[in-house]
Amino acid sequence: RYDDLTEVLRSSPAVPRAVTASLERMEADADFTAFDRELDELVSGALAQGTQAGGSRVPPNDSATAGFPSLAPLLSTIQRSSRLTSEMLDEAIAAVRTAIDDVRRDDAADIRSVYTWLAALLAISVAAVALAARAIVRPLRSLQTSAHQLWVNPAAGDGGQKLGGPSEVRSASNAISEAAHHIQQAARQADALAAGDLDAAVLDRKVSCGSGASLHDSVATLRESLVRQEEFRHRLAHEAIHDCLTHLPNRASMIAGLESALERSRRSGSQLAVLFLDLDDFKDINDLHGHHTGDAVLVEVARRLEEHTRSGDLAGRLGGDEFLVIAEPVRDEAEAIEIARRLLDVLGAPVDTPSAAFTAGASIGIAMSTAGEGSADQLVRDADLALYRAKELGRSGVHVCDEKLRSSARETSSIAEGIRAAIRNNELLLHFQPIVGARTRKICSAEALVRWQRPGDHGLSPPSNFIGVAERSSLIIDIDLWVLENVCAQLASWERAGLPDEFAVSVNISGRHFASGRVVGDILSALERHEVEPRRLIVEITEGALLADLGGVARKLEALRVAGVRVSIDDFGTGYTSLAHLRSLPFDILKIDRTFAGYTVERRYEAVVSKLMIDAGHLLGAVVVAEGIETIADADTLTRMGVDELQGYHLFHPESPDRVWEAITAQAVELRSGNARVGIAE
Ligand code: C2E
Ligand code: MG
Ligand code: MG
Repeated sequence: RYDDLTEVLRSSPAVPRAVTASLERMEADADFTAFDRELDELVSGALAQGTQAGGSRVPPNDSATAGFPSLAPLLSTIQRSSRLTSEMLDEAIAAVRTAIDDVRRDDAADIRSVYTWLAALLAISVAAVALAARAIVRPLRSLQTSAHQLWVNPAAGDGGQKLGGPSEVRSASNAISEAAHHIQQAARQADALAAGDLDAAVLDRKVSCGSGASLHDSVATLRESLVRQEEFRHRLAHEAIHDCLTHLPNRASMIAGLESALERSRRSGSQLAVLFLDLDDFKDINDLHGHHTGDAVLVEVARRLEEHTRSGDLAGRLGGDEFLVIAEPVRDEAEAIEIARRLLDVLGAPVDTPSAAFTAGASIGIAMSTAGEGSADQLVRDADLALYRAKELGRSGVHVCDEKLRSSARETSSIAEGIRAAIRNNELLLHFQPIVGARTRKICSAEALVRWQRPGDHGLSPPSNFIGVAERSSLIIDIDLWVLENVCAQLASWERAGLPDEFAVSVNISGRHFASGRVVGDILSALERHEVEPRRLIVEITEGALLADLGGVARKLEALRVAGVRVSIDDFGTGYTSLAHLRSLPFDILKIDRTFAGYTVERRYEAVVSKLMIDAGHLLGAVVVAEGIETIADADTLTRMGVDELQGYHLFHPESPDRVWEAITAQAVELRSGNARVGIAE
């Protein structure tokens, strides 16, 4: 086993050169080899004499030991060899220390490689002692036994044993016996270290002689390092399966827990429920009150979940403000919903933090499994789907995943896949809806609206069929980029064909794109690539997208305006923008949402609200546009109320670029001939 071990040490790249060099030095050492040989000779000689003396059972006298070799050189060799052994141990210990320091310095170090290291270094230490044991302990043990047999005087007979024989041999025998004892003790200490028994009493035993003391120090250092390594390993093991903020089981641990729960319910045939919980508006707490407050809320939520889950149920944190509860067993869906509602009630009580008290509302999605059907990952995905739906339905909701939801999720993912392919294969196309001046009824701009010529029998898909899906991921940014690129190309081509000077195109840019750091660069670089003047472009951002990050978005809008691009706030009146918000925003155009147009004519309350919005827009120096103009009455009423521009089916439907170009050029001809339809019925 010793040879195997040294072979492994020599071939392992993890073992530092210094350590293998010591090993080689020790094995090649002339003293050491001589010692090995001398000891063997000595032992055989001693044994031969001992057999004679033991055979006659007569205490030896001086003449019986006259031919016995001098022990002095042998003793000094023993000392040298233990020094070599301790040198090698020192090398190993130094390497262990370096490894531990490395781990401390670099928390992100590859833990597995550190373990490999530590295992290799432990092996080196054991090898060092094993080497000593091989060379010293085995022959010494026989020598010790034979020395006792030879010189112990059985006639002393007072219960104790008394040494007899020549004094040199007696003291040598004592020394050898003591050395053998020490080295056996070192071997036992190495065994204890190798077995990881760091509390073994043998590790505390100290040897008084010089080399023994240094060996003991080495063992103590090694033991201390191993204790620290063990503590570190425990901490890592805990951290590997627990979330460090809340100390709840983490995602990996919850998935493992769910797999075991599924196994149990497969055997018992019972049902289990996976509850996916997500805090409502947690981002606001973080954004408005800082991460410390957010953390305090998460810790309290975790505490309540742990306290209020039934015994045997498991609560864990998946990350962010997402938690998972495995309820096992449950009778049916109704019981799972009841558990979810109870948890929501518990979380509904205010959470006190040093900065303020919050109500940590949450929504829960549930996935059920009967007799262990489904995989852990699938159940978590289903519960997540149900959570998404619960959030769509309002705050503090509970929703259970069913086949309908799963099939709509499949449809969603096939749409997402389809959009990806559509961008690659150029299946998207642009329609433009002209916008006219309210009083002149002349085209002053057009809004670019994307369409998808979906393969198969899907026909031309309107944005409502796919924009929602795209908005759930960064796909919407890809669509925005495609639109920007194609709008700029279209503008460049119209420009070459003699586009009227004041004409501009507006593009819808998604909130997700605005939240990214790239939006300004994306817009300006598209204009630059096609050599289109920034004044030809209007960027529309919805009121909802603005509210997500008012300050950040405002800075980006300002950067666009500085470059000469105009900014329009789309679907105004549907969100919660206050006048104070509006005042702090840099924008040029306010687009009143299309839902107001018809109502403004029919209902007094909406008319008053529309008038307020129009006046607010004007007060802030913006051009006010009304969308959704479907009748002449809509157009006339809103014009009378002061709206500057109109957009709607009564005027133009979204059309292909060619049809829009026809309308623009026809209008230019009319204008030139003085026949343009100007003015409205007052
Ligand atoms: P939006 O930006 O408010 O665009 C106006 C929508 O109102 C268009 O619907 C337009 O066809 C429709 N519309 C115009 N006049 C009338 C009318 O008189 N009555 C009614 N009921 N509707 C009218 P569309 O093309 O279906 O687009 C819907 C929404 O999809 C857009 O609303 C916009 O939010 C989004 N969208 C369209 N194209 C893009 C795009 O290229 N990028 C992004 N991010 N979103 C887009
Ligand atoms: Mg729009
Ligand atoms: Mg709109």
